Amino acid sequence: LNSNHRARAAAGASSDRQVSGGGGSISESRIADNLRRLEVITATPGDGITRLAFSDADATARALVVKWMRDAELEVRVDAAGNIIGRRNGSASDPAVLTGSHLDSVPNGGNYDGVVGVIAAIECARVLAERRAQTRRPIEFVCFASEEAPRFAQSSNRFGSRAMAGLIDPELPQRLHDSDGTSLAEAMRRVGLDPSQLASAKRDPSELFAIVELHIEQGTLLAEAKTPVGIVTRITGTTRFKVDVIGASDHSGGTPMTRRRDALAGAAEMILAIEAAARDLGGDLVATVGVIEVRPGAISVVPGLVTFGVDVRDVLEAPRRGAVRQIMEAIETIASRRALGTSVSLIRDDDPVVLSASIQDVAKSVAARLRIPSMSIPSHTGHDAASLSAITEAAMLMVRNRSGKSHAPDEHVDVEDIVAGTRVLCGVVEYLAGA
Ligand SMILES: [Zn+2]
Repeated sequence: LNSNHRARAAAGASSDRQVSGGGGSISESRIADNLRRLEVITATPGDGITRLAFSDADATARALVVKWMRDAELEVRVDAAGNIIGRRNGSASDPAVLTGSHLDSVPNGGNYDGVVGVIAAIECARVLAERRAQTRRPIEFVCFASEEAPRFAQSSNRFGSRAMAGLIDPELPQRLHDSDGTSLAEAMRRVGLDPSQLASAKRDPSELFAIVELHIEQGTLLAEAKTPVGIVTRITGTTRFKVDVIGASDHSGGTPMTRRRDALAGAAEMILAIEAAARDLGGDLVATVGVIEVRPGAISVVPGLVTFGVDVRDVLEAPRRGAVRQIMEAIETIASRRALGTSVSLIRDDDPVVLSASIQDVAKSVAARLRIPSMSIPSHTGHDAASLSAITEAAMLMVRNRSGKSHAPDEHVDVEDIVAGTRVLCGVVEYLAGA
């Protein structure tokens, strides 16, 4: 199927004059206005965007997007995972071209992560409606549900897009709970979704032609290269695992240094070894310990049990696998020298996603035709398009992030750059949909 898609996209790529759209009627003021209208929908006014998945703020933002989609003459439906899908029919019932991103946020996040891709998609829909454009393939403009994972467990991230790709266990919403004890299933029911129907969100690969997601860069490659638009080559692979370090808790006064099995001192050495391994390996490899729990956790007790989480990423597979092996060995060596026990459990192990080469070529030619500077970049962060790559050709565009920040209140992207990205996105989507 994939090579078939590639062939079809490549066949069209040669006739450059068919690459149209992305033209004059994309409205900078409408994009800026929509950004402002979403910015005020947050549970933490004045302190960034807090629009956790399936929360009241999320529901308010989603309702606004449904209205915008209807204004853009789309047929709107919400699938069982909560993905909002605005469809524009084509002249044939060919497989659909998808574009979109997400609206939910981390706590105290920014107003651009995900949002930019949703606003850009809707702007494309409006321009097509205004032009009364007729494409051959249908186009679906999508707001994916629950891309971020802070409310429920990490295993809930990219929930909507993974459900669409058939990658979510239908029982998952019953198993996951937020910090208040609300299950994901209850949270879904509260916003009118039926978690028992989750499997129905899965799309058959024959229904989809491709997905193109526009997103802000959550790094500084584009800003450093003074280039507004990035064409993404690969999405990083990620390995996450949990390490339990088992020592012996004992009285901090009565236990001499020579007789301790201090789980926290051992974990500290392991964490520094993880940092050193990632530094030594170099390249794009990153390794992070961002969470740690100490038990029993009292100032007068030698720690008996420490649990920490490790996140290892690289856009290439071999360096990530090598780093994970090296980290495991370091953990074992340190544990045995200190007479500590360890237990390692894998949380996730996602290989890098190689994005569609033919759609990257289409994007390059659209950007060149519009005289918008662009460059190829990898993505070091995961995105909804990565989920969909399991069932269709996937591509991503990125917009320069001058602030260099993301998942933070001071995340900022210039509206001119969003317009540039939107023009390329619309051109690519219209080209893939076919005249
Ligand atoms: Zn995002």
